[in-house]
Amino acid sequence: MLLQDKQIAIIGGGPGGLTLARLLQLKGAMVKVYERDLNKDARVQGTTLDLHKESGLEALLQAGLLDEFKKTYRPGADKMIIVNENAEVFFSDHEGKPGTDFDSEHFRPEIDRGPLRNLLLESLHADTVVWDSQFLAMYKQGDGWLLQFKNGTNAYADIVIGADGGNSKIRPYITSIKPFYSGISGVLGSVYETEVKIPLIHELLKGGKIMAFGGGKSFIVSSKGDGSLAFYFSGRVDEIQLKNVNFTDRGEVIPWFKNDFDNWAGVWVDVLENAEMPLMPIPIYSMPLDQVWEALPNVTLLGDAAHLMPPFAGEGVNMAMLDALELCKCLFNDHFSDVQTAIASYESQMRKKAAAAAKESLENGEWMHGVGSLEKMLAFFGGAH
Ligand SMILES: Cc1cc2nc3c(=O)[nH]c(=O)nc-3n(C[C@H](O)[C@H](O)[C@H](O)COP(=O)(O)OP(=O)(O)OC[C@H]3O[C@@H](n4cnc5c(N)ncnc54)[C@H](O)[C@@H]3O)c2cc1C
Repeated sequence: MLLQDKQIAIIGGGPGGLTLARLLQLKGAMVKVYERDLNKDARVQGTTLDLHKESGLEALLQAGLLDEFKKTYRPGADKMIIVNENAEVFFSDHEGKPGTDFDSEHFRPEIDRGPLRNLLLESLHADTVVWDSQFLAMYKQGDGWLLQFKNGTNAYADIVIGADGGNSKIRPYITSIKPFYSGISGVLGSVYETEVKIPLIHELLKGGKIMAFGGGKSFIVSSKGDGSLAFYFSGRVDEIQLKNVNFTDRGEVIPWFKNDFDNWAGVWVDVLENAEMPLMPIPIYSMPLDQVWEALPNVTLLGDAAHLMPPFAGEGVNMAMLDALELCKCLFNDHFSDVQTAIASYESQMRKKAAAAAKESLENGEWMHGVGSLEKMLAFFGGAH
């Protein structure tokens, strides 16, 4: 067995890293996850995630967690309306959309990030995740690596897997290829107790999503299971300028939003009036689609660390979980003579799949932030008015 007596370190306890840890433990591997969050109760922010049959759901199935997922996901959260900048509804699938069907490739159940993380965490052996372990650097030690963390601790690993997201600190040990800016920037935030604070948006959400398009900009709102919502608004860099805005200060953010989203109705401003501060500005980056590197003997990447892509095709988390599944299969495939050959095989097909998903995400980002985006979105969802 390739992993006999090998200690594996996964850097990053996001959906990709935790899925891999679970899959490896099911096969009896020795694995630790080093996560920079202080503890498991750190708040997991962000929009909800829809899992796809052939990737995210398949990884959960192989991890023996699909039944648990079925108890935890949010039925109906995949339903949505499409509106314009005045919040006028042009499309809704709340009535017509088929219900739960885990056998259908078109059924994309939604789960909040926090519950997905908890589901994966609870499936791991006690003490698998070493919290408060922000990776800083690693140095060769024997055949493996000595890892250094910000809290002053060190750990040894025979194999290191970077699952530490788009700003990966493991990636530079493998390749000097860097992400490029997509030309689109956005801002992420949340509102709690939406029913009380922003009843109009709460009413429109109906436990699902709102996708708003107008003037080359978009505003996406996702309801969450705890009565809160996550929102994300975005535009091209020549349309919205994130520089020089203090996102900790509502008094600065609101005039800035009114200026850059000048034709947008007051209902969107209400979201910002009630949002938790600070908001999170996110310039959208992507890894190049043609990236290639030589496989190393005992270090690899998965998820955003390997192939950060814009969020406009809903593929990021699905790709991260699929990577975990494919990497685990390669590491337990006895046809490979050594770990490096297993990593090389995994990386080659991973890059191919990720490039296709990133291409779709970049193209979606272009038309979602271009002329006629509302009409194109309506056509995409069947042209229903
Ligand atoms: C606004 C927005 C909306 C999105 N919507 C969707 C969507 O609808 N569907 C979808 O599929 N994807 C979506 N994505 C993308 C998705 O969130 C990512 O692709 C996915 O989370 C990647 O998972 P990961 O495990 O690779 O990395 P991450 O989720 O980024 O996890 C990385 C983990 O590593 C930890 N970490 C980072 N650095 C260190 C370090 N130095 N040391 C130790 N730990 C570290 C982090 O704390 C984190 O826990 C969206 C992204 C954004 C920004």
